[in-house]
Amino acid sequence: MVKLAKFRALGLSDITLKALEKKGFEEPSKIQERIIPLFLSTDKDIVGQAQTGTGKTAAFGLPLIELLKENSKYVQVLILTPTRELAIQVAEEINSLKGSKRLQIVPIYGGQSIEQQLRRLKSGVDIVVGTPGRVIDHIKRKTLVLKDISNMILDEADEMLNMGFIDDVEEILKSTNSNKRVLLFSATMPDRILRLAEKYMKKYELVKATEEKLTINLTDQIYFEVNMVDKLEALCRIIDIENVFYGLIFCRTKVDVDTLANKLMERGYSAEALHGDISQYQRERILDKFKRRKANILVATDVAARGIDIVELTHVINYSLPQDPESYVHRIGRTGRAGKEGTAITFITPSEYRKLTYIQKLAKSKIRKEKIPEIMDIINSKKLRLKKDILKVIKEGDCSNYSELASEMLVENKPEEVCSALLKHFFQEELEIKNYNKIRETSKNSFIDIKGKTRLFVALGKMDGMSPRRLVDFIKNKVHVDDRKINDVQIFDKFSFINVPFEEAEIILRFFKKDTKGNRPVVVIAKKRKDSR
Ligand code: ADP
Ligand code: MG
Repeated sequence: MVKLAKFRALGLSDITLKALEKKGFEEPSKIQERIIPLFLSTDKDIVGQAQTGTGKTAAFGLPLIELLKENSKYVQVLILTPTRELAIQVAEEINSLKGSKRLQIVPIYGGQSIEQQLRRLKSGVDIVVGTPGRVIDHIKRKTLVLKDISNMILDEADEMLNMGFIDDVEEILKSTNSNKRVLLFSATMPDRILRLAEKYMKKYELVKATEEKLTINLTDQIYFEVNMVDKLEALCRIIDIENVFYGLIFCRTKVDVDTLANKLMERGYSAEALHGDISQYQRERILDKFKRRKANILVATDVAARGIDIVELTHVINYSLPQDPESYVHRIGRTGRAGKEGTAITFITPSEYRKLTYIQKLAKSKIRKEKIPEIMDIINSKKLRLKKDILKVIKEGDCSNYSELASEMLVENKPEEVCSALLKHFFQEELEIKNYNKIRETSKNSFIDIKGKTRLFVALGKMDGMSPRRLVDFIKNKVHVDDRKINDVQIFDKFSFINVPFEEAEIILRFFKKDTKGNRPVVVIAKKRKDSR
């Protein structure tokens, strides 16, 4: 395993290296390079600072797998995460890294039946990955005993703080044995987090890795504007124009997944559907088929796609927009992994433009706009491929079996004629323009360009003492936006209007969602005027 030499050098054992190979990791990320040896060869507490998507889970997960004992009677590790999605993701990531080591890893979160969790906890668990609230529940019920843990990990500590879990975290820290090792991971280090670290961690080592993200920056991110009714057509064009398409397509619901997979199959693609209603047996069969490339399209829901370890995808397609920036990052992190380039494509309908801007901003990614391939581009691309394929046969294939037939056909016809007839006979279907449907332009009015502005309605006017300057100051004092970004202020008796760029609009709207006058937010998007774009 020369390939994994860098991981080996960090002190990982063969069993773990094998699991890593299966997972498709090739080189450790920066944070992994620094945390793993520190974790394995010292007993220091560690504070790790690195942004999302840099591989923190494996940074602490791999050493844990190395260090934990098999067949322990007690819970050995507690990992706290801010959300249930993260609890599941972290548990799945560690599970996929543990190889043949016999360790039980269980996510514990609110919303899941407590009985089910109790059963899992009773059956002997090594690593509990939980959200603070549910962990406290179990501690109180004495169904989770944390008196003998060797390690405690606080993952995404700043998010836990933002979500108001910090007191819970402190309570949990107090109810665990004091001779454990504590690791804290966070993208930012607010005071409150540092104080927590001072209070509950021994003299710790601070590891800061300011690096580019692992996943996203190798992924070419594109979006297409497309009307709902034309999504299928657009998808087919995207698949057809590629030389190799090996992709994961995300839909929002099970029904959407089934519908899309069926439509693709009707059109002759080898697609499979994956969602929560599919039995474990079927799921494995489908994944196996996909991994062996007997199918090159996998249509899935976010939940169903979680935890599948498929590497070298050429495309991830958001057939419908993900719910939030986090799932966007997670979805597209499935392509462009481990140093390989991939393409992430997002379809947006006119009304989703704002949501895309929001995702783009929070996911800190650049998503560029592209035009859906034209029919002639696809046909040309197919012709090119065909030519290449035939040249390859000429070059390496032994065609002597066919030469007699060929000569016979050439006796009475010109080579071009024979060749054309052959192509028509075998490829007519594929090169037919009629196979494609027209895609309607998305209405110009419904999309505003990226530098576009949003007009906001503010429920304060002259009667509230507002002047243009006062209104700008009022907003500036509440929300951190540059006042030069607020333009075209119009003050009426009881209300006002302002124009701001999208980004600022998002920030302002989010803030004022909570700030209401009567029952209504003080700031909302202005209703479109007839003459507005
Ligand atoms: P973080 O916790 O820092 O946000 P994650 O641990 O969730 O990041 O990792 C993000 C993605 O990168 C995951 O899909 C993970 O499998 C992948 N990943 C982690 N380490 C590596 C690596 N060394 N090489 C390739 N991919 C990696
Ligand atoms: Mg993480």
